[in-house]
Amino acid sequence: MFATLSDRLTATFKSLRGKGRLSEADVDATIREIRRALLDADVALPVVKQFTARIRERTVGTEVSQALNPAQQVVKIVNEELIGILGGETRRLRFAKNPPTVIMLAGLQGAGKTTLAGKLGRWLREQGHTPLLVASDLQRPNAVTQLEVVGERAGVPVFAPERGVSEGQGVSGTSQGDPVQVARDGVAFARDKHHDVVIIDTAGRLGVDGELMQQAADIKAATSPDEVLFVVDAMIGQDAVTTAMAFMEGVGFTGVVLSKLDGDARGGAALSVVGVTGQPVMFASTGEKLEEFELFHPDRMASRILD
Ligand code: GDP
Repeated sequence: MFATLSDRLTATFKSLRGKGRLSEADVDATIREIRRALLDADVALPVVKQFTARIRERTVGTEVSQALNPAQQVVKIVNEELIGILGGETRRLRFAKNPPTVIMLAGLQGAGKTTLAGKLGRWLREQGHTPLLVASDLQRPNAVTQLEVVGERAGVPVFAPERGVSEGQGVSGTSQGDPVQVARDGVAFARDKHHDVVIIDTAGRLGVDGELMQQAADIKAATSPDEVLFVVDAMIGQDAVTTAMAFMEGVGFTGVVLSKLDGDARGGAALSVVGVTGQPVMFASTGEKLEEFELFHPDRMASRILD
């Protein structure tokens, strides 16, 4: 991830080094290069425009002209602006004052929601929480089983329709077949059994789909989640932006999870989704294994890009 973008920006800054002063032409050339590098990395055009405008505004100002080392100052500005478009400060999960905290996962099919449910569950359990996974993806025949497998590997119980909760504590199956009711029952079950966090896995299609979007909105309305995490495959490039916008409008979300950051994506999704939705990236998923998951730190990611 970001290897090409990183190389391109490094090369751009290298040609600035050693210059005592930066002429207007130097600044123009640098901004042009940054713009091209971002576009080639699949960053959405409006985000690129906004980003380069900010860089221009700051580089033509006194910040750079009065700096002892103008090139270094430009790098500093780009670093700060990169942190900004990656969401600024590290954004941590918001826990409910009155448990259970409800976290709903939304996104396209194959984005990595079910895997994330396991990762998040395991991560929370390791921090002393008592999470419960809720199987509200009833669209794919295999989805409930897949969540149960993930839950078992994560050491986190799964509330599913029909079968109740795994680990043999059966619940009456009133919610069979209705994902909204399963979600509602799952939250009630968690409250009853003192699970302090509920993670609701929801259905997705390969493309944005009105009916499923409505279902996700209904699940949200029925469970009033503390966090709605939009899970997006970093490999889908520019499509990440249109998908994110559709989910923002159709369901609404409070944070973004970038999955498959271990792939050779060019990084555009990561840099665009925050810019177009205004919601921060909270977690990064970096592999198929449950432990390949981390809190997303915009500053560390920016440093990696400008390394
Ligand atoms: P869902 O349809 O949104 O629930 O997506 P899944 O969780 O089923 O994931 C779809 C596929 O992507 C599965 O084969 C996962 O193993 C894989 N996957 C999920 N997250 C990651 C990740 O961070 N990196 C990689 N390489 N694969 C992932």
